Amino acid sequence: MIRVLVWNEFHHERTEESARRVYPNGIHNAIADFLRCDDIEVRTATLQDPDCGITKEVLDETDVLIWWGHMKHHEVPDSVANLVRDAVLSGMGAIFLHSGHHSKPFRTLMGTSANLTWRESGDSERLWVIEPSHPITRGIDRSFFLEHEETYGEPFVIPSPDRLLLIGNFSGGEVFRAGCLYNRGNGKVFYFQPGHETFPTYYVPEVQTVIRNAVRFLAPTYREMTGCPHVRRVTDPEPYVIG
Ligand code: ZN
Repeated sequence: MIRVLVWNEFHHERTEESARRVYPNGIHNAIADFLRCDDIEVRTATLQDPDCGITKEVLDETDVLIWWGHMKHHEVPDSVANLVRDAVLSGMGAIFLHSGHHSKPFRTLMGTSANLTWRESGDSERLWVIEPSHPITRGIDRSFFLEHEETYGEPFVIPSPDRLLLIGNFSGGEVFRAGCLYNRGNGKVFYFQPGHETFPTYYVPEVQTVIRNAVRFLAPTYREMTGCPHVRRVTDPEPYVIG
């Protein structure tokens, strides 16, 4: 089983009718509902949980963390962001959705501001697949369409992705790197842009397919923090000792 933890700041859906109407049980539960299947088990955590629901013990039992945040990034302690970073460096997968681009863990893992340009004008978006052979885009045709999505535009201040899998094109004219894949240490990070809280984006089959594929692709095959040991020469007569 792949063990997924879906984290959501869970603010808009509790405080704004426009978001509650779309995600009455919160975005985290909408994502959990479509992910649960024979080989994926899902837990959820929110900002309202003690320690944000994120401890080292929780992350040790998480194969892939999915992160949705928007207005409350600053309320996530630096210590939690560092736990996520270290878990990724040790092999855990992490998927950052939509406005999670400005979350502390994502910025820490990227080492940049992750700034972008944006607009809420009800634009439509067409997402174009760049690598149809990649496991994350499996099952998607050349492109798919979202009737409404918040407009995100370049420049997106991120390191050049190791693999750029999707580009979004908005009806207002902007383009945006919408599916970005990175290796970080022994783990993988995937940023996926769709998912504004007042649009039913997470009910769109292609969006669900990409997230489900990403969970399976990011699930760790090796779970260890690579250290920085002082070692003897391998060719020394003494046994090869780490220490
Ligand atoms: Zn948004």
